[in-house]
Amino acid sequence: QQISVAVLLCCTAIAVVLALKGYPMNEVFFLVVALAVSSIPEGLPVALTVALSVATQRMSKRNVIVRKLTAVESLGSCTYIASDKTGTLTVNQQTIREILTPSGTSFSVSGEGYNDAGEIKDSSDNKVEPGAESALESVIVSGIMCNEAALKKEEEKWRSYGDAMDVAFLSLGYKSGMDPDEVKEKLEVVGEIPYESEKKYAGNFYKKEGELKTAVKGAVEVVVGFCSFMDDGKGGKMPIDKEKIDKQSLELAKKGYRVLGVAGGPVKGSGGEDDLNELIFYGLVGFIDPLRPEAIDAIEKCKTAGIEVAMITGDHPATAFAIAHDLGICESMDEVVTGKDLEDIGDPMSEEFTKKVASSRVFARVSPMQKLQIVDSLIRAGHFVAVTGDGVNDAPALKKANIGVAMGSGTDVAKDTGSMIVTDDNFASIVAGVEEGRYAYDNVRKVIYLLISTGAAEIVLFTLALGFMLAGFLGGTESGLEPPLLAIQLLWLNLVTNGIQGAALAFEGGEPGTMKKPPRKPKEGIFNMLMIQESVVSGIVMALTAFGVWFYLLEVQGLDTHSARNITLLLMVLLENVHVFNCRSESISAFRVKFSNNYFLVIGVIIAQGIHIVSMQIPFMQELLRLQPVSPAEWGIVAAMALILLISMEVFKMIKSKGLKAAGKKV
Ligand code: ADP
Ligand code: MG
Repeated sequence: QQISVAVLLCCTAIAVVLALKGYPMNEVFFLVVALAVSSIPEGLPVALTVALSVATQRMSKRNVIVRKLTAVESLGSCTYIASDKTGTLTVNQQTIREILTPSGTSFSVSGEGYNDAGEIKDSSDNKVEPGAESALESVIVSGIMCNEAALKKEEEKWRSYGDAMDVAFLSLGYKSGMDPDEVKEKLEVVGEIPYESEKKYAGNFYKKEGELKTAVKGAVEVVVGFCSFMDDGKGGKMPIDKEKIDKQSLELAKKGYRVLGVAGGPVKGSGGEDDLNELIFYGLVGFIDPLRPEAIDAIEKCKTAGIEVAMITGDHPATAFAIAHDLGICESMDEVVTGKDLEDIGDPMSEEFTKKVASSRVFARVSPMQKLQIVDSLIRAGHFVAVTGDGVNDAPALKKANIGVAMGSGTDVAKDTGSMIVTDDNFASIVAGVEEGRYAYDNVRKVIYLLISTGAAEIVLFTLALGFMLAGFLGGTESGLEPPLLAIQLLWLNLVTNGIQGAALAFEGGEPGTMKKPPRKPKEGIFNMLMIQESVVSGIVMALTAFGVWFYLLEVQGLDTHSARNITLLLMVLLENVHVFNCRSESISAFRVKFSNNYFLVIGVIIAQGIHIVSMQIPFMQELLRLQPVSPAEWGIVAAMALILLISMEVFKMIKSKGLKAAGKKV
């Protein structure tokens, strides 16, 4: 709007001067309209849409599907990524490695992947049978009973369905020599409590020899809450020692294991959630879930790009810390906060809450509700937050976040709410999305830079020429200066310099240093200081050279207006086309941006420039546009002038990058 107003004001002034000079009104009208048309960046909305669409294409190749076009731009300004742990930072190949019984006996489990290959061994590395300790057998059987997954060998290949934790328990069953299907057949299942991340446990009710029994597995503190007894290691039970189990659990978690508690025993009642009491605690199970190797690099990349990374998980704080530490997300336990800690602070709008969130990198045992509060707090602190989610309960947090990232394996609700979907669940893909988002934003800037500066050049050129005319008029001398271009020439200029070039710039490939810069400030508009400076400098250089040539040809060489216009038009076409190469990077030398980064643009410019040169030779076009061929000497002047623009902008970039480096050192 501001540009339009400025252009219209200039055009009105020019119209007044021309009218004063006694030009016919219809000529004045056409000229002024042509000037407005060619200097208002009407190609901008198209180029913008093209830039964002190109980015969505490129993102989809990197496993990021954008649901809202504007998310492309938001991704580029992301300052904080709050990621899930399981499946996003880790591969979600849960494998049971250790079983610890209440008596303190530790068993190790070998084998890779989901199959029957592997053994259960005691501390002296001897293979043991499930019957070696009653608690061990109970853990294995309960893991099989309380299970929603399937694992089977079909035609020599192992196939698994369902939750990775549950599949790991079935695999443990096979490794111990049991057949999970047979175990389930012998015992009659009468009820189930499916796993939900809020409840953090799952349960199953079955009948053994007529007696109603249960098998429960889940987060240790939840499962321990159901128990009054623990296995005594001799096939009997004894009162539970909760402190001992807590200690054991912490030990396992510190090793980076995800820890699950397993319990069971006879139940009174009909078998519902309320009947889970006075159970017997059977033991702890430690799972490993390998880190995604590419996540480590992606986190490093975020650090250099000035993006903060945090982990939000339902898992135990010690487990979360061990994994986050390996990934390079956090350094010390001080950066770990639990859902309970946040609950104790209370009011999520309070300063204490905000501070706690700001100083933490790992959020463990948090509920979806708290996830929402964390996101809200970060946004209020001025962050531009991307948050991941997969479950139905994650929807509010995904909606609240600046960028909701749904996981490809997640629920439809999450996918419908998120502004983008990461098809492979991978953290590295989110970072790739951020990278593409930054490229897209840069490309939009390049397009704007080109359209604004060339438009400005045309307006300034006319204002200068008409200013001289007015001065001459007021001074009483009859200056020979006339409008430097005809209406039709202005329109032609617009066609061969802004037609394809604006859209083609939107295809520019990414610049190398993009992920080494901090994110732009979320509140900063696209017309920042740099954009204004570069547009003004290049616009004025173009206008001054063109005006200089126009003045020189008319006043010094005494050329006729017709021939002078022909050369000025050629110069403007060349200047603007050369300027396209300046616009390919705001900081890197035009000579260092590879042609291969955007063949489309290079070919587009050559064709557009070629069309003008050819038109200068064709009688029909000569007639239409008042063109004529130019002499080699005139070509020399024109080329030299175009070089001035190139050199000026190179110098501008050099000064700017020195300034940036100096500013960087100060920080
Ligand atoms: P994450 O943030 O790592 O995805 P979850 O919310 O999936 O964590 O899991 C939180 C806790 O719930 C785990 O630490 C574990 O104790 C328990 N849990 C996870 N999956 C199951 C399951 N299939 N059965 C029982 N308990 C589970
Ligand atoms: Mg999960």
